[in-house]
Amino acid sequence: MATRATTGLNSYLCDKQQPMNLVSVGTVAFDSIETPFGKQERVIGGAATYISLAASYYIPQSGLISVIGDDFPKDVLQEMEKRGINQEGLQIKQGEKSFFWSGKYHYDMNARDTLDTQLNVLADFKPVVPESYQGCDFLMLGNLDPAVQLSVLEQLRERPRLVVLDTMNFWMDIALDKLKEVLKKVDVLTINDEEARQLSEEYSLVKAARKIMEMGPRYLIIKKGEHGALLFHEDRAFFAPALPLEEVVDPTGAGDTFAGGFIGYLAGARNISFDNMKRAIVVGSAMASFTCEKFGPERLMELDRETIDRRVQEFVDLVDFDIELVGA
Ligand code: AMP
Repeated sequence: MATRATTGLNSYLCDKQQPMNLVSVGTVAFDSIETPFGKQERVIGGAATYISLAASYYIPQSGLISVIGDDFPKDVLQEMEKRGINQEGLQIKQGEKSFFWSGKYHYDMNARDTLDTQLNVLADFKPVVPESYQGCDFLMLGNLDPAVQLSVLEQLRERPRLVVLDTMNFWMDIALDKLKEVLKKVDVLTINDEEARQLSEEYSLVKAARKIMEMGPRYLIIKKGEHGALLFHEDRAFFAPALPLEEVVDPTGAGDTFAGGFIGYLAGARNISFDNMKRAIVVGSAMASFTCEKFGPERLMELDRETIDRRVQEFVDLVDFDIELVGA
């Protein structure tokens, strides 16, 4: 018998009067991407773009902290604004260029090569937390220089209820000490399996999780691309699969979409119990699966709650089974 999804998605009420309870930090960028199924130059990208778009399906308003040059399209910013993504914390540098990243995926799209990273405006980015973002309950420190992540955290007069941090090998390679400093101050870390191994110097993900949780975060999410995601907390673990997709066109932004769906769901429900985190992981995975279907954030931008709910239900059905155990 198939179980119904119990994510409580339908209980969400879109109330524009609610105060902003999520703030996201990360890149807003241009990406050039090559996959076995095509190539696209200078599509809209950036960790914070994917995070805030994904979260916007679960919360009416969020704050964005980032920096762009004057080359970033105004219509995309307007579209984000329409989705409740407040841009008071977004700095626009006249005469400068936005962050640019270029990557190439091979046939196994769980691995990619970074071809180019141009920090541009990010090179000397000093984030400023606007007054209206003070008092936020949820903070998403998206993939970015750990010094910037730390600076945002330190500017908040009250510590948010939940701080989630995402990072990548790039920052482990060039800013490990700063990363370790910020790790001490966050609740949840999301990284992929290779990065978990690099950070912990352990091959076993169970041992890696234990070591990483000793570095600060009480919760660890290890993303395994098309093989799902693992949540660790104390001696508990939870696994959510990834949906076997008929078409994977471009996985860029899947990790950030996952993070945005995860924190957006928690912020919308205002519930950070372990059980709700399990639901949030399924929601994050469902949202990430959409992002992979087209280049850039295009697919993520054309969704609605009904479509997302149907996909969450597919996840529930995917792992639903009955078994009778002798002696149980
Ligand atoms: P994901 O596929 O979820 O890991 O994230 C892809 C996004 O991360 C792209 O849109 C890039 O613009 C952005 N990105 C790539 N490298 C970096 C970096 N070193 N720091 C911050 N953002 C990055």
